[in-house]
Amino acid sequence: MIIARGIGELKNALRSAGGSVGFAPTMGALHAGHLSLVERAKKENEFVVVSIFVNPAQFSAGEDFEKYPRKEEADIALCRAALVDLLFIPKTEEIYGEDEPAIRAPSIGGAIYEGKIRPLHFDGALTVVMKLFNLIKPQRAYFGKKDAQQLWLITKMAKSFFTDIEIIPCETTREISGLALSSRNAYLSESEKNEALKLSSSLLEASKLIKKNETRSLAIVQAIGEVLKPLTIDYIAIVDRDFKPIDTIKKGETIILIAARVGATRLIDNMWI
Ligand code: AMP
Repeated sequence: MIIARGIGELKNALRSAGGSVGFAPTMGALHAGHLSLVERAKKENEFVVVSIFVNPAQFSAGEDFEKYPRKEEADIALCRAALVDLLFIPKTEEIYGEDEPAIRAPSIGGAIYEGKIRPLHFDGALTVVMKLFNLIKPQRAYFGKKDAQQLWLITKMAKSFFTDIEIIPCETTREISGLALSSRNAYLSESEKNEALKLSSSLLEASKLIKKNETRSLAIVQAIGEVLKPLTIDYIAIVDRDFKPIDTIKKGETIILIAARVGATRLIDNMWI
């Protein structure tokens, strides 16, 4: 595995890539969810690139940029074991210059749900992904459905900017308990981890109701809200694949989104129906 820290090294290493390039951008503190993206990329491409970059531009003021988990040594070992071909770990100065042009998230799609709570988050996320796309020029890029709104906006961006990059959605990897893997789970104490299970349990409850032919969004939202108690809920939303709220659940067209706080930690989860 080649480790590139500078853009020159990255470009050199990419010259040795034969065939299609698959790319999985990450912020590190890698877990089995990230590795599932890598595994899929390995299956579908001759050359796999992973980036690790805690992108300051996608953290809002007062968020956890400073304390975001950084585990470079362990991440390198995991990437090596997963047979990643090229690992890109740039410093902020490599990626950003002064007073630069940037991508602006869609004014509606980027300002709802996660965007409402985290102003400028998607501007920062889209900008860094576009920079990484332009540096790496992958044929395919792999993103988790766990971050459903991000996946939707990146798919839109790839199309709007005529990138020809295929955006591949990947299933959410969970602990056996149901908890969706997330680098931010590292913030949770044992008792908070139990509380955090309410997110996946609430989605399970929703899926049970849907199996019993409940299709009213309102009823599902109420049931989820009951399970999430007493967590602080940021939002529970039932949307179509274009993130428009819908009153009636339709199979193959619906996503249930939840965001809640467990102590000081914000967690998100979702279910695609
Ligand atoms: P992050 O390091 O949190 O920026 O995530 C990097 C990529 O991994 C994003 O495309 C995420 O959606 C994806 N990801 C994060 N958690 C999971 C998970 N539990 N299962 C699958 N993909 C995930």
